[in-house]
Formats: sequence, C-alpha cells, structure tokens
Amino acid sequence: MKLHFTEEPSLSQWWNGRWQLEHAVTTLEEVAALLGVEVSLFDSCRKAAEKYPLFVTPYYLSLAQSAELADPILRQCIPSDAEITCQVGGNPDALAEDAYSPVSRLVHRYTDRALFVTGNFCAMHCRHCMRKRDWCKALPPPTDAELDAVVGYLKDHSEVREVLVSGGDPLMLPEKDLLRIIKALSSVDTVEILRFGSRVPCVAPQVVTPRLAAVLTSGKPAWLATHFNHPAELTKEVSAACDYFVRGGVTLVNQSVLLKGVNDNAEILGKLFTSLLKYHIKPYYLFHGDPIEGAMHFRTGVDAGLKIMNELRGKISGLALPAYAFDLPDGNGKIRLQPEQILRFDENGAPVFRAWNGKEVAYPN
Ligand code: SF4
Repeated sequence: MKLHFTEEPSLSQWWNGRWQLEHAVTTLEEVAALLGVEVSLFDSCRKAAEKYPLFVTPYYLSLAQSAELADPILRQCIPSDAEITCQVGGNPDALAEDAYSPVSRLVHRYTDRALFVTGNFCAMHCRHCMRKRDWCKALPPPTDAELDAVVGYLKDHSEVREVLVSGGDPLMLPEKDLLRIIKALSSVDTVEILRFGSRVPCVAPQVVTPRLAAVLTSGKPAWLATHFNHPAELTKEVSAACDYFVRGGVTLVNQSVLLKGVNDNAEILGKLFTSLLKYHIKPYYLFHGDPIEGAMHFRTGVDAGLKIMNELRGKISGLALPAYAFDLPDGNGKIRLQPEQILRFDENGAPVFRAWNGKEVAYPN
C-alpha cells in the first residue's frame, strides 16, 4: 500500500539499502503515520512492543495490502497483544540452542552441521522469530578470539561439513566482519560449504548488491537460505536481489514458517512456492511453528500443516514442494512430517514421533 511519507523518498533512496535501514520504523506512531491511520488502532500493541521492540523497513511495511492488524504482512512485523497474552507452553529457547553450544557463537546439535551465530542485528524484528529472546541483548560481531575458538573446535570436529551462518542476520554485518567470518570458517579444510540464513532478501532486498554476493562467495561454496512466508513478499526489488546472488554464484533455497493468519492455507502457500521458483529460489523447508514464548499465537496444529501439504502434493510441481518439518523439543532434532511418521497419539492428543536417536518424543500440538 502507498505509504504517507512527510518527505517522499526519491527512487534512488527507495532502492538504497542504507536508506531503508536508516529509515526503519521503530514506533507505533510512525507506523500509524506511514499507513495513514489513527495511532489508537495500535493501542493494544503497546505492551508487546515494550517487551519485543518494533523494527521494520519502510519497504516491508509498504507490502501491506491493508492497515488492518490481520493483514499477513502487518501480522509479521507489528507487535500484537497475543505476544503477551496467549503464551501458555511457550519457551524462550524451545530448541535448547544454549545447551548445545560447546564454544561461544557455535551450536553443534547435528553430527555434520553446526550453526555459527554472527550477532543479533536483523533488518526486521519478525514477530514469529525463534530467537526473539535475544533481541534486547547486545551481541556484537564476533571477536578474533571467539573466531579462533570456533575454528579450533571445527578443526577438532572434522565431522562438521556444513556451517550455517545465521544470527541475527549475517547480511546485516559490516562487510569487514562478514569477510573475517567467511575467511575463518573457510580456513577449516573439513568444512565443505557455508549456508547463510537471511531475511534481508525479503525485508530489505535493496541491501543486496553484486558486491555483497561477491563477499558471500569469497570462501567455501555459498548457499543462501532466504525466508519468504507470503506471495506478497515477492516483488521487483526481490527479483533484482536474487539476480545479483544467482549471477554471483550463490545458490538460493527458501525456508518458510507455517504461520496462523499469514499463510496457513494451501492456496497461499501453493502460490508462494511456485512463485519462488521464478526467482531462482528452491522451496526447501516449510517449518511448523516452534513453541516459542512470544510467538505461540502463530502456531497451527500439526494436522493443519499436514492437510495443506497433502493438498499441495497433488497440485504443484515436486520442485516447488518443500519438506514440511519441525524441531522436536529439547534439542532432539528435526522431523520431516509425513502422516505415516506419527507412531501414536499420547493421552493429551499430542502426536508421538521417533527421533533420529531412536527416542519416542511427543510433540505438543
Ligand atoms: S530475520 Fe530471522 S533472526 Fe532476525 S528477527 Fe527475523 S526471523 Fe528472527
């Protein structure tokens, strides 16, 4: 929708990543002014905004199709009172990442993959974020000593072939820090690929330049996992960003999250997945929403996700179809969901799955 700026940005400002970030919206008053509505519309959002601050680029806000809080774009970026009031069963660290961190910045849960945490600055505060517990902590780019410790650990653990570089958003780092991280991780012979996880191409695609693509490919082969959740997020700005990556040699995959009120129906997800292919992005995962404190209101039942996947299976190309998956509680690993994987339902009606380690684990529905 057309935003109401006090001073209309020029075309070159709009297409400039720095301009977008410098003009990121951080208050409900600014949101109301840009959308051209009364600020009282957002009165119910104030408590949530205090606990989990608002941060959204004008670009992403402009993708909203209406000023209603139920708009799928606004739902992903504007605080909701449900972040405070509907959080029974939520856990700030549902995937037990902190428990699987052998050295600062590294999470090593799966045998051949590890997660490197770059910092905690993102181009948007996505309301469904699984790491929203860290938004208010200061986590600057890694020091040389932290990088040395990570490299030492990876050299001692030659089974790690793939490092997921995420955060925070790695594409928000100053170029010199990103280069430092890529160089350090690529210095480990047994690390074969780097997979960057970023929402920048979705929420601030103007940040992407040929130079950024060249930085990503300056070390081991680079994969980039984007995070698009709704077809309204696919625009000409995104197309330009994807072109830079593809021409620069970065392979693109997408990880969506199944979000109630945003994309929890087969028509929307089918359109998203098939459209992503036109942007050279392979839909990789559709994640079931984790039980995250502050994001419980986005969760659907597992049965709803399975129904959507079953509907899509017959309708869209296999290339467009991602794997539907979630992470079992307490760091027990990922499950790719197919109906026959459910062993039984426990006394609370929760489906019970067999984890990769042989354990039977119930997943709260
Ligand atoms: S970009 Fe990713 S890490 Fe950052 S707030 Fe959004 S979901 Fe969370």
